[in-house]
Amino acid sequence: MKALVYGGPGIRALKQVAIPTVSRPTDAIVKLTATTICGSDLHILKGDVPETGPGAILGHEGIGIIHDVGAGVSKFKKGDKVLISCITSCGSCAYCKKGLQAHCLEGGWKLGHEINGTQAEYVKIPHADYSLYDVGPLAGKVKDESLLMLSDILPTGNEIGALNGKVEEGDIVAVVGGGSVGISALIAAKTYKPALTIVVDFNEERLRIAKEVFGADIGVNPGKVDAVEEIKKLTAVQNTGARAQLHPGVDVAIEAVGIPQTFDTCQKIIAPGGRIANVGVHGKPVDLQLQDLWIKNINISTGLVNANSTASLLEKVSTGVLDPSPLVTHHFKFDEIEKAYDVFSNAEKEKCIKVFFTFD
Ligand SMILES: [Zn+2]
Ligand SMILES: [Zn+2]
Repeated sequence: MKALVYGGPGIRALKQVAIPTVSRPTDAIVKLTATTICGSDLHILKGDVPETGPGAILGHEGIGIIHDVGAGVSKFKKGDKVLISCITSCGSCAYCKKGLQAHCLEGGWKLGHEINGTQAEYVKIPHADYSLYDVGPLAGKVKDESLLMLSDILPTGNEIGALNGKVEEGDIVAVVGGGSVGISALIAAKTYKPALTIVVDFNEERLRIAKEVFGADIGVNPGKVDAVEEIKKLTAVQNTGARAQLHPGVDVAIEAVGIPQTFDTCQKIIAPGGRIANVGVHGKPVDLQLQDLWIKNINISTGLVNANSTASLLEKVSTGVLDPSPLVTHHFKFDEIEKAYDVFSNAEKEKCIKVFFTFD
């Protein structure tokens, strides 16, 4: 089969490799029908993720058809259409029972990280019963472009952004960072009916897409205005009552970049009682303004996706509450994956949010 193989920092190639086979009773082999590229694949390619070594097949998102199952797999059989979760979960360890599947003792982020991933014609999924979702009943009802967004980025935006940030009806929500995960957080947050959504990004095209395609109310470009002052002005007008006039700000600030400056913006725009939900992957320390935050009763949350909201997101997608399909901006054949990596690596210039691969 063909697979995208990591060859060490800066090196990737579409290669012929052996089709995986069942080695443990709980394994399933899935024949991919759709896959995509994630920002974390680019981190691996840069050499930022040392546990992923040369020879690894990348990718942790996908849709496919069950090709083979081990004797211990009870929920799936050959021919079933499945959504692959980016998080592998055994379903029975102490972390899985706590809803912390990201830290599953036999799972977590394994695919395309510690074991071969989904940028291939076939992939082996350990603990298949808890790491796959049956999407056969949605065939013909929900676009595969929507389903594929539920492997990783929508659960991430929902769990680490909207749910950790406790977005409630009537809230003012700012998403700082308008890339694919920021937009996913926006989409997820909007299902909880906030009164106002603001997206902050330096890129005008991203702001346009956030507003026109995904329904953000306001785009703020820190390259053109002082984003903190602008948001304080906006929220002072939108809020009602004396308190709001004295302490303008947002109820929920979702950080979706992962650099000190964007975290700082969140600290400066948060209103008393607000929640800062950090989604971005940080590579260095931030300057935590605890002396200002404590007296404003601010909560800060962080996390790696558990992908335990996937079933509820599938429900929202199937009933039309949620349509993440416009996140897919580019379609490719799987054979074109090397070209697609070039496009995705230049996402801003190429106006690319997510790519979608089909297989022959
Ligand atoms: Zn990912
Ligand atoms: Zn577990």
